[in-house]
Amino acid sequence: MLSADCIFCKIASKEIPADIVYEDEKIMVFHDLNKVAPVHVLVIPKKHIENMLDAEQEEGLLGHLMKSVATIAKMTNVAEDGFRLVSNTKENGGQTVPHLHFHLLGGRALDWPPG
Ligand code: 5GP
Ligand code: ZN
Repeated sequence: MLSADCIFCKIASKEIPADIVYEDEKIMVFHDLNKVAPVHVLVIPKKHIENMLDAEQEEGLLGHLMKSVATIAKMTNVAEDGFRLVSNTKENGGQTVPHLHFHLLGGRALDWPPG
């Protein structure tokens, strides 16, 4: 997919609005439109990368994103009780938006295994 057609690229560039929780030069965090837990935010790189299969050369960016998770968890008040971080990938993973994103879910006990 071209980044010009990508909804998360448009959110990253503020072409379309989102309820933004955190942002820096490399990543953005915003509330999921259809939340499935009391806390449900999406952590995305601003750069268009479709999914983890396209991220092999993105060590620095991924490191930055992953180390930001602790800050985001504290900001959204899920650090104390815990949370889940998940990146659905392609059809079998249930990915619907082809721009790399991590769901950060918390605020209640989550079932395991997933459906
Ligand atoms: P996936 O299904 O690819 O793992 O996750 C995509 C997520 O993006 C879904 O949970 C969906 O609710 C969310 N989503 C899709 N379009 C938008 C949008 O325009 N704004 C926001 N905030 N979330 C969106
Ligand atoms: Zn994109």
